[in-house]
Amino acid sequence: MKEEYLHAIWRLKRLPISNLFSTDGRAIKILNTGWHNPDSGPDFFNGSIEIDGIRWNGNIEIHVKASDWYLHKHQDDAAYKNVILHVVFQNDKDLFIDNQKIPTLELQHLIDFNHWNKYRNLLLNQTWIPCENSIQEIEKQVVLNQIENSVIDRLNRKNQILAQTFTDLENDLLALFFEIYAKAFGLKVNNLPFIELTKRIDLKTFWKVSESQRSILFLGVAGFFEEDVKFNLIHEKKEWLFLKKKFSLEEMELSSWKFKGLRPPSFPNLKIAQFATFCSYKEFFSIHELNSSQVLELLEKLNFSEDFRNNLLINAIVPIFWWNFERFQDAKMQEIALKLLSETKTENNQIISKWKNLGIKCKSSFESQGLLELKNELCARSKCLTCKIGFAILKK
Ligand code: SF4
Repeated sequence: MKEEYLHAIWRLKRLPISNLFSTDGRAIKILNTGWHNPDSGPDFFNGSIEIDGIRWNGNIEIHVKASDWYLHKHQDDAAYKNVILHVVFQNDKDLFIDNQKIPTLELQHLIDFNHWNKYRNLLLNQTWIPCENSIQEIEKQVVLNQIENSVIDRLNRKNQILAQTFTDLENDLLALFFEIYAKAFGLKVNNLPFIELTKRIDLKTFWKVSESQRSILFLGVAGFFEEDVKFNLIHEKKEWLFLKKKFSLEEMELSSWKFKGLRPPSFPNLKIAQFATFCSYKEFFSIHELNSSQVLELLEKLNFSEDFRNNLLINAIVPIFWWNFERFQDAKMQEIALKLLSETKTENNQIISKWKNLGIKCKSSFESQGLLELKNELCARSKCLTCKIGFAILKK
């Protein structure tokens, strides 16, 4: 038996509701199952039950074995003091809080094993996602609601990374933006050397040099003039050596950069030159002061492919707005982040194509970001009971 399954049947009230008795023979009526708490603390908050006609309001804790209460040391945790009912699969130990016996509902003889098998079969499916054979039967609105939840989860997850980076950078906003954008330019393959680049040169130095020197400066720091260069780059190398001395800069190892598996438009030297163009637009470093149309207009000024502009928007600009929303509780920032995602073309990758084959299509990167998160964080980990779609399948 799995505890998360017991949570699901409690939420669904998939029990012989009019015939429930505590282990000491008292009639139990469920008035309200309570609010499911996925974090630490009791499993359901503010539930409401009647025991032998007397109403009790409080929290409900669920375990596979009653003795898990003691195994998890809940007896030492004040957060569990207000538990009014212990719901267990197997009652192998009585539960006491402050010497008071807590009513226990044992489920092992009440469970519908056909339903339990349905749940197990769902998780055991060896298909691309466990619910592949059932998802088409689920209402479209339920799927959309889950996608929306997953987008928010994704933005919150990115937000935590961003907040940690800000702390690591000693709350230096400019350095934070520089690093986020650098990561986006590095794509998956070269994001670490791109971050390294931002550690070896700061933006203020970059903005001091003339526009014609800026890509030379980045390429030089990145190590692209480290070795003998071709005849047509001799001028650039001379320029780099001058800048290196002037600003006391140190080169990276050229071998830090990866070319393998990349198509020429994604080669790191090209991306570094593009990064120099990008960083010349100072507005990107106060992007959260713009509205969504101004952001899109600014991006349009860049002579980059549409796919790459979208990548910058999804992986750097939207997370910056979301971070500002969380940081200052500024709803306007949240609105802009979601609007930008809704107005950006969907990504094309294997995961999105697979969802499309299952009949789930994306109109914008709002949906595609949600579907990526859903696949990676829930489906791939068989967390179907924390997913609205899985819940709807088991409700049937
Ligand atoms: S997590 Fe949700 S969408 Fe993914 S397989 Fe399970 S039920 Fe389906």
